[in-house]
Amino acid sequence: MNFVEDLLFVLKTTRIKDRDVMIQALSRDNGLLNLRANNAISSSRYSGGLKNLALYRVKYREKEGAEIFYLDSAILEKEFEKIPIDFEKFQLSQFFCEIIFKVVVSEQPAKEIFNLFYYTLSSLEKIDVNHQMVLASSFLIKFLHWYGANPMVSICSVCKQELVLKEGLQSIYLTPVKGGVTCGECVTDQSGQFDFKNYMLFQKAISVPIEKFVMMVIALNPNQEEITELFKYLIEFMGFQVDGLSKDRFQSLSLLFKG
Ligand SMILES: [Zn+2]
Repeated sequence: MNFVEDLLFVLKTTRIKDRDVMIQALSRDNGLLNLRANNAISSSRYSGGLKNLALYRVKYREKEGAEIFYLDSAILEKEFEKIPIDFEKFQLSQFFCEIIFKVVVSEQPAKEIFNLFYYTLSSLEKIDVNHQMVLASSFLIKFLHWYGANPMVSICSVCKQELVLKEGLQSIYLTPVKGGVTCGECVTDQSGQFDFKNYMLFQKAISVPIEKFVMMVIALNPNQEEITELFKYLIEFMGFQVDGLSKDRFQSLSLLFKG
């Protein structure tokens, strides 16, 4: 029975018996894990109790033949205190968690998603709630890139003309079914109109760290309706590209889109 040292985010805790807790966690080295913490309520071994969305430096062990791990100790490394106390921020964090639950596998390294989650929570803590769709869209672009499903953006998915910034091309149309975008001549349903310059900006999201990118977009004072269109498009696109991630599978989305 070997001890493993790792870093993990507690995503969900469920109390079992009087003082034991089951934890679903995103770990850096072993992906999604189910861990049992015995006698966890306010125990000093676990930094006084395990909190959701907090980052811990941990030791755990696997019992042979069992599917769960046993948490031995947890030292609090970082807590995103502003998120659990703000309903809208918390709701968005749950959307990120839902994606992670459905995509990350257990016992495989998940360093990129782990880092993305860390910097996404850092950013969520700092931004004003009005800008949460900027963060959500940036997260999805980065997530889809990690998954290997990038929306095709450089050509119209119908007539195949190259979409470059030029006189007369002001808008593109987001068409998730085709996995891409269309030009103004080929569009049949204009619900996903998007300013071309802004859309090109969002393509930078792949190469710039998420916190920096979100601040960059916010500084440009983006049109909120457009950003919401982009977010809806990315959700649809994800539904076509990633098994089990169609938009009606997310409980948190109905609350994000209220009103
Ligand atoms: Zn076209």
